[in-house]
Amino acid sequence: MSRVYNFSAGPSMLPEPVLKKAAEEMLDYKGSGMSVMEMSHRSGIYMEIHERAEATLRKLMNIPDNYSVLFLQGGASQQFAMIPMNLLGQNRKIDFIHTGNWTKKAIDEAKVQATVNIVASSEDKNFSYIPEDYQFSPDADYVHICTNNTIEGTKYPSIPDTGNIPLVADMSSNILSEEIDVTKFGLIFAGAQKNLGPSGVTVVIIRKDLIGKHSDQVPVIFRYATHDKEKSLYNTPPCYSIYTAGLVFEYVEQLGGVKAIEAINREKAGILYDFIDESSLFSSPVDKRYRSLMNIPFLTQSNDLNKKFIAEAEKEGLVTLAGHRSVGGMRASIYNAMPVEGVKKLVEFMKKFEMANK
Ligand SMILES: *Cc1c(COP(=O)(O)O)cnc(C)c1O
Repeated sequence: MSRVYNFSAGPSMLPEPVLKKAAEEMLDYKGSGMSVMEMSHRSGIYMEIHERAEATLRKLMNIPDNYSVLFLQGGASQQFAMIPMNLLGQNRKIDFIHTGNWTKKAIDEAKVQATVNIVASSEDKNFSYIPEDYQFSPDADYVHICTNNTIEGTKYPSIPDTGNIPLVADMSSNILSEEIDVTKFGLIFAGAQKNLGPSGVTVVIIRKDLIGKHSDQVPVIFRYATHDKEKSLYNTPPCYSIYTAGLVFEYVEQLGGVKAIEAINREKAGILYDFIDESSLFSSPVDKRYRSLMNIPFLTQSNDLNKKFIAEAEKEGLVTLAGHRSVGGMRASIYNAMPVEGVKKLVEFMKKFEMANK
């Protein structure tokens, strides 16, 4: 068996100890004689997995008691529709800071239900930065941001102050990568398949006073109140994804928590950015102040050379380095599960490639 360094943007690498533990427990979970995939979601043994996953995430992110943690399905994309269903008030108005592909999708979905007000956008420069000059509408029901832009490789240098207007954040690609103050947000959501676990589960962290504001027109299954009341067991949850995410949470805890992971993430991103900045072949399209720790796009001056790089890297066990189809070039996604050695090996290969292609 040989594992590769997988730089995929998502689904992406999982920590090896997590995969090993899941393999060990596959056929007979803790003497139950069955796999977690085969268990009733109402059984005591599954309930323990479910509750422990929530408790560990709460500890890791320091989530206060006045926030609910929900394990939902439908991906981050379903939240683009579900958030307006639940958070819109009389005004039916949402302020957006538009920073790339994922806010575009959220905006298009929100327009079905609400008046969308784009308070700032970085589209003028290909989404290579995060706007810092904006004013929120006093009558907005909430403000939507994407804290880390997976495709463009940008992140917020600091969290906007929205005053009394609830701040909603798509953290799909940077949740658990660095310390954040949950109390600054009304709602945080993240599809699991970047930094938390396998696809299939979506984590929603919501301030309790924002639950139950939906109108009677909202289907029961799409109400946060429904899932909150039933502790994410209103219907069958994605049990195996929640179990695996729970193993990831415990792995992060054992490493020393989010603070420790953040230090490793800064080290990894530093190694790659430092090399890109001194390279005469590779460059970064992203303004330095806004560079993501998780998704690092880079490119050479020629498409053919980019293609050659991606193909040769693959032969070295450095895989899924192609940039998103909308931007081209290369992108290294170095989420929590990517070891420092993987980034070092990538940089070594980039150096070799540069020497050979000058
Ligand atoms: C991947 C991603 C999404 C979409 O997630 P799905 O789970 O596929 O719906 C949304 N937002 C961001 C920031 C992402 O990285």
